Amino acid sequence: MVEIKTPKPKKSIQLLRGMKDILPEEERYWSFINEKVRSVAETYGYGRIDTPYLENTSLFVRSIGKETDVVEKEMYTFEDRGGESISLRPEGTAGVVRAYIEHGMLNRPQPVKMYYIGPFFRYDRPQAGRYRQFNQFGFEVIGEDHPVIDAQLMMIAYNFYNEIGMPVSLQVNSIGSTETREEYHKALIDYYKSRKNSLCENCKKRMTKNPMRLLDCKEEDCQLLAQDAPQIIDFLDEDSNLHFVQVLEHLDSLEIPYTLNSRLVRGLDYYSGTVFEIWPEPMEIHEEDVNIEEEKKNNEGKKEIKEEKTEKEEVIKPGSQSALGGGGRYNYLVEMIGGQDTPAIGFACGIERLIIEIKNRDLKVTQKNNPDIFVAQLGDLARKKSLKLFEDLKHEGLKVAESFSKDGLKNQMEMANSKNVKFTIIIGQKEIMDDTILIRDMENGIQETIDFKKIIPELKKRIERYGVKEMNGNNHNI
Ligand code: AMP
Repeated sequence: MVEIKTPKPKKSIQLLRGMKDILPEEERYWSFINEKVRSVAETYGYGRIDTPYLENTSLFVRSIGKETDVVEKEMYTFEDRGGESISLRPEGTAGVVRAYIEHGMLNRPQPVKMYYIGPFFRYDRPQAGRYRQFNQFGFEVIGEDHPVIDAQLMMIAYNFYNEIGMPVSLQVNSIGSTETREEYHKALIDYYKSRKNSLCENCKKRMTKNPMRLLDCKEEDCQLLAQDAPQIIDFLDEDSNLHFVQVLEHLDSLEIPYTLNSRLVRGLDYYSGTVFEIWPEPMEIHEEDVNIEEEKKNNEGKKEIKEEKTEKEEVIKPGSQSALGGGGRYNYLVEMIGGQDTPAIGFACGIERLIIEIKNRDLKVTQKNNPDIFVAQLGDLARKKSLKLFEDLKHEGLKVAESFSKDGLKNQMEMANSKNVKFTIIIGQKEIMDDTILIRDMENGIQETIDFKKIIPELKKRIERYGVKEMNGNNHNI
């Protein structure tokens, strides 16, 4: 007897851990942010730069620093087929600076202002708001040391969030020059020496290699110790101190509120002088958030399960201070990579984290290319007529959406709602007979019957009126 083997069903291939698909329904957040970044860049005269995702590993080792978490543990590094060690970019500044040197941008009028937006890669422990491939936008100013540049850049970052309606705080510090940091390292090591036993394992290792990182460790005991640690501000050399005071004066005159945060040190070696971060203001903690927290506590020990869960729910710990973005001066970096001594400053912001916050806070996301009008139809004749009307509306420059394959009005209205249109126009049997069309204002639900021939001028008139209303009433739009 012939044995018939039933083929084993193949296990479906799944997304890599820490990666994220961006589905069509998310697109509006991404284009909103892209558009906003582009418009801010244009206003302040930043040119777009796109550097490759892959770079020579030594670029990152030299700039970010050998002893940093990013380089030690998080880079995707491998040998290419030619035996060269290359890495997926874990951040944007090193590539931009390499390009600045390589394309002789020193010979252009200084400072050179550039911005970027795109994916970065870190083999980090995935959790809510933390991925292995994530997107950042960043702004860099290379070739100028004036404190006004620091203040203006912080203002750009702060206002970016303000304008989309996101309450944030600007955390500011200065980490001074190399000499400042040498002195400060000694003081920190002195302070922590007698307290070593209370530190977490990671910090014990960091203590001699990179003691400033002890200050921003998230472990409770380490945070307690950090509170009484010496503050770098007391170690600033005269120039760094003067620069920092002037930066703060400029911030004051720009009326940008900020918090002086002596524990803010940033993780990468290339920073010097001014450093800053943008933190989301804590959200009001609702009962259900507390329950999530409780549940997380109960799951203590089941780390993996807990992480998967938070990842799916996209909940960042309520009230937590995970930065949305950050940056600072990197006056030594151009030289470290092989260029001439050139001052510079920049910042980078995470897009996934921003989208989570936008969703959690229900912020309004508008888009330039959002359709204004939805065309709905009932019955075959109406479908034919609206198919042609749709093309005519488009031809007239109106922004329209449709769902011709759907029949029921309920379905189509749901679609119109999800697209956030201002008006839905409806053709049914009666309208076909009367050569009319229904126009529904989606804001107040009022419907009117209109002569079919007048629909284009009528829509144009109403949309124009709408535009004026929005300009007067909502300053969160872009
Ligand atoms: P950094 O380059 O580490 O200063 O990060 C700047 C911003 O990028 C952070 O404040 C986050 O918003 C975002 N970011 C950094 N690492 C990740 C990650 N692994 N996943 C998602 N966002 C990240």
